[in-house]
Amino acid sequence: MNESEDSLKKAVLFLRNEKLVALKTETVYGLACESGSSKAIKKVYNLKKRPLFNPLIIHVNSIDLAEKISVINDDSRKIMEEFWPGPLTLILTRKKNNLVHKFAVSGLETIAIRIPSSEFVLKLISKLNKPIAAPSANESGYISATDAAHVVDSFGEKVDLIIDSGRTEYGVESTILDMTTNPYEIKRLGVIDYKTIIKKLGKKVKNLNFKEKRPLRPNSPGQMLKHYAPKTPLRLNIDKPNLDDAFLDFGNKNTISHQPTLNLSKSSNLKEAAFNLFYFLRKLDKYSKKRIVVAPIPDQGIGKTINERLKRAAS
Ligand code: AMP
Ligand code: MG
Repeated sequence: MNESEDSLKKAVLFLRNEKLVALKTETVYGLACESGSSKAIKKVYNLKKRPLFNPLIIHVNSIDLAEKISVINDDSRKIMEEFWPGPLTLILTRKKNNLVHKFAVSGLETIAIRIPSSEFVLKLISKLNKPIAAPSANESGYISATDAAHVVDSFGEKVDLIIDSGRTEYGVESTILDMTTNPYEIKRLGVIDYKTIIKKLGKKVKNLNFKEKRPLRPNSPGQMLKHYAPKTPLRLNIDKPNLDDAFLDFGNKNTISHQPTLNLSKSSNLKEAAFNLFYFLRKLDKYSKKRIVVAPIPDQGIGKTINERLKRAAS
């Protein structure tokens, strides 16, 4: 269904009845359920084939609602007021109650929360008057869904309702900032980088060091190495594709006319490249070529996020 008063009502009803609703957020499409329902949460894990130890991000529509499920100190309030609604998830100490079932947080003492900026989702949460859990609407480990058609591709009829709101604005997942550590730590790169956060906070923040070895089952779960991966083997930093490759290009320095090629951004705009990244990877995956090869992406700004996603997808 498209966004409308009708689909909003239906989505609320479905969530109340422990069903799953796929929704667009500004980052990627989420597979949403009511976060207090163990039954609905189990459906999400089953459908995504997501490991049970990988907890879900909880979406709220206000700091007040966040405060019902997490401990908020002056720093975290400051960050919330500055960046929410927006693509920044905070890991905080969890308050235990029936708004969030322990299955949603994999039994952890922490909780990951954000306020998304989609009006439809905000209205939905306010009508539901409860938080929702919403991991990306795709099979665990596969390329994230950035369009309603991707959700259909991944799950088809198995999702109770899909709200089609077009392509997502950013195309990559939220930044994750862990505020339960000292210093605070970036656990996933996103659109908002650690320098922007430091500027607002006036405190040191540890950036994600992608080169650090990751444990297989880390305390910030979901940081397992392999992720976001197409079925076709992916190779990075390649300027010249082989005949039987699909090519994901960037910028305008390659003049070869290879087929198939998709260009993340001909004008070398990294924001545009992030917007197209998962969308184009899915398209190229459909060709079932021997490899998907990706041109070098400048490792600056949101380019760092793109490269982090690509490295994990290629590992
Ligand atoms: P996604 O895979 O986009 O749903 O992102 C979820 C990620 O958020 C997880 O993989 C973790 O890295 C992080 N996360 C979610 N919930 C928690 C939690 N309770 N404690 C720590 N990290 C969390
Ligand atoms: Mg995901």
